[in-house]
Amino acid sequence: MTEKIFHQNPYVNETKAKIIKKEKEGDLWKILPDKTVVYPGGGGQPQDRGFIENFEIVKTKEENGKIFHYIKEDIKKDEISISIDFKKRYDYMQQHTAQHLLSELLIRLFNYETLSFSIGEEHSSIEINAKHFDFDKIKKTEEFCLNQILKSIPVKVYYAKDSSSIPFRKPPKIKENIRVVEIEGFDYSACGGTHLKNTSEISLIKIIKTDKIRSNIRLYYVAGYRALYDYQKKNKTILELQKIFGKPHEKLTDGANELKDKYEKLRKEIKHYKKREIENEIEKIIKSSEDFIFKVFEDEDIKDLKFMAKKITSSGKNILFVSKNPTKFFIIGRGKGDTNLKELSEKIFSTVKGRGGGREDWLEGKLENLDDIEKLKALLEKSFDRA
Ligand SMILES: [Zn+2]
Repeated sequence: MTEKIFHQNPYVNETKAKIIKKEKEGDLWKILPDKTVVYPGGGGQPQDRGFIENFEIVKTKEENGKIFHYIKEDIKKDEISISIDFKKRYDYMQQHTAQHLLSELLIRLFNYETLSFSIGEEHSSIEINAKHFDFDKIKKTEEFCLNQILKSIPVKVYYAKDSSSIPFRKPPKIKENIRVVEIEGFDYSACGGTHLKNTSEISLIKIIKTDKIRSNIRLYYVAGYRALYDYQKKNKTILELQKIFGKPHEKLTDGANELKDKYEKLRKEIKHYKKREIENEIEKIIKSSEDFIFKVFEDEDIKDLKFMAKKITSSGKNILFVSKNPTKFFIIGRGKGDTNLKELSEKIFSTVKGRGGGREDWLEGKLENLDDIEKLKALLEKSFDRA
């Protein structure tokens, strides 16, 4: 058995320990210490970032009360020091204790049960058996959470021989020797994680978004320092947006909508002018005396390019169109003669690098190298001429 110091006192960040067993497993050294401060993970809470001496613990495994620690290097002594990244652990304690409070309040306020829980690197989430969870519910939940936080309620941890006398939020499957985490008189959970000693240390719970998942709702939240960092980050974004829009934060949504409307209007206008420009271009080309039209566009829309190519080839001209950006897209079209482009494609792709396909009178695809354009042009001039 490994003595679980993280259970006795989750605020301890380092311990001396004795190695009971050590063996090589693959590339790693598997070490069994007599005691540890490293929470091995489970119940929604991730494994701690831990160290044996200066070596990072790559993973842990718990088997029948034994907690194995894996490291990459060999440790050539029996007495070791095991430590954790306490900033990260404390963050997990804040998120985890927040979850207990949140889960209990969601039952008391709306009768929503917590189905699962997970602490992520960015935010934590709980899935509840709700169909909807609107903005008013979010506000109410957050305020009620804060009320409980401000009451500075002690969080007690003890073992219960018989669980039947304890009013668990979610009755555990095991009935004997249960580890009870109690937000005094408020919430009773059977839990093996690490928690704060008082609700005041949660400091704040903010629900940052909701998602519909299966037929339930997933609430994403941040607590403690995470809530502060989240607020700092978002406030910075708001201040930057205020500068861009020249509006106070209450008017930012209006500002963004105005901009979106203007953009839509401009987009329509541009489309209109673009269409006119393309029509003029087509007319000019059709009127020209050239039989083979070669044009390179900087960044023509593929749809527009195809439209032009169709119009011009149907007027009886052969074409090679290339749009440089972003795709190096090309169209070869036959409007005159009987050159079979499908047959010619083998010769084309042995001369220039690229890929494509089409019909006897139409070939389109992508060039690998824009330097090949001239080669392609020369090849086509010859082929169309011969026909
Ligand atoms: Zn817990």
